[in-house]
Amino acid sequence: MRCCLCQRPLTQSWSLKLLLSAEPLVPPSLCSECRGGFTVIDQENICAGCGRPLVDRLCSDCQYWQQRDGISLHNRAVYHYNDNLKDLMHQYKAVGDYRLHVAFQSDLMGLCRRVGRLVPLTTEPEHFARRGFDPVLGLFGHLPLWPCLAKGNTDQPQARKKRGARLRTPQSFTCTATLSELQRVKHICLVDDLYTTGTTLHHAAAALRDAGYRGQITSRTLIR
Ligand SMILES: [Zn+2]
Ligand SMILES: [Zn+2]
Repeated sequence: MRCCLCQRPLTQSWSLKLLLSAEPLVPPSLCSECRGGFTVIDQENICAGCGRPLVDRLCSDCQYWQQRDGISLHNRAVYHYNDNLKDLMHQYKAVGDYRLHVAFQSDLMGLCRRVGRLVPLTTEPEHFARRGFDPVLGLFGHLPLWPCLAKGNTDQPQARKKRGARLRTPQSFTCTATLSELQRVKHICLVDDLYTTGTTLHHAAAALRDAGYRGQITSRTLIR
């Protein structure tokens, strides 16, 4: 096995505790040097709404959503968006290096443990056609997913927009599940690669509500 980022050989060592646990084993895909370049969010010191690091109250984004919609999503993320992670995501999403989809499998397994039905925020058809893969399904595809949200084509990717334009983006999700399917689920956890302003996740949640879903909605993202 080699590190999926730098291609150095990986030395794999399972702890006895892990081998004896009931948790599924996910082999590491990043070497310790590459992993050390990413900043794990200290979960003791985050915004209670979106999981933004180094905030000890509801952050300005969550205050905005609370004023606008009366809710702020309960989001939790693993990593802070530092330069190394920006480089990796650029290589994965913009360059289209699909080999990197395994980089965070064990982190995401831990993040999404016991959080309800996992609904991925899938990519829009034009992006899928250009890239040839769905980045969110790539990252979270080793977990049991329920892809019940479809995304229509938007004028411009969120990543290229300024903050104000992101917040004003119109709804582009529709729910493909039937009402009776939705009524059987008590907790939906939306999963996405990146939480920036929360617009995409709030639109996904609104599409579920519009389709008649009345259960709990939370979210998990790789990056905040
Ligand atoms: Zn490496
Ligand atoms: Zn927040």
